Amino acid sequence: MGETIFSKIIRKEIPADIVFESENVLAFKDINPQAPVHILIIPKIEIRRISDLDMKKHGYLLTEIFDVANKLAKDFQISEEGYRLVFNCGSNGGQEVEYLHLHLLGGRQMKWPPG
Ligand code: 5GP
Repeated sequence: MGETIFSKIIRKEIPADIVFESENVLAFKDINPQAPVHILIIPKIEIRRISDLDMKKHGYLLTEIFDVANKLAKDFQISEEGYRLVFNCGSNGGQEVEYLHLHLLGGRQMKWPPG
């Protein structure tokens, strides 16, 4: 499988509304937002799915990804009222872009179960 659009976003070859960047992690606004706040948080090294994670090797990345999610939730003022964090995994999980990403969604009431 070839690389995804997210690798091009990391290399700044295509534009994205970047809201956070560090050595290991990038966060940018989703192009097709499903909530008033919809941000994608990705590792800079390519990992295709949550099921490909090796915690011994990648644990630090997941820690940073969740730290960034909580920081951005505060920055975007959705921390108090609550928000949703989602990893879609594979086809049945609804994953369309095969590059690991955490969705941060907030600013509206979420429903359960998700579609
Ligand atoms: P998935 O369904 O794989 O969990 O989510 C992929 C997400 O990436 C979708 O919410 C989709 O709107 C978003 N997306 C796809 N292509 C682009 C793009 O080029 N730029 C940005 N900012 N988001 C994208």
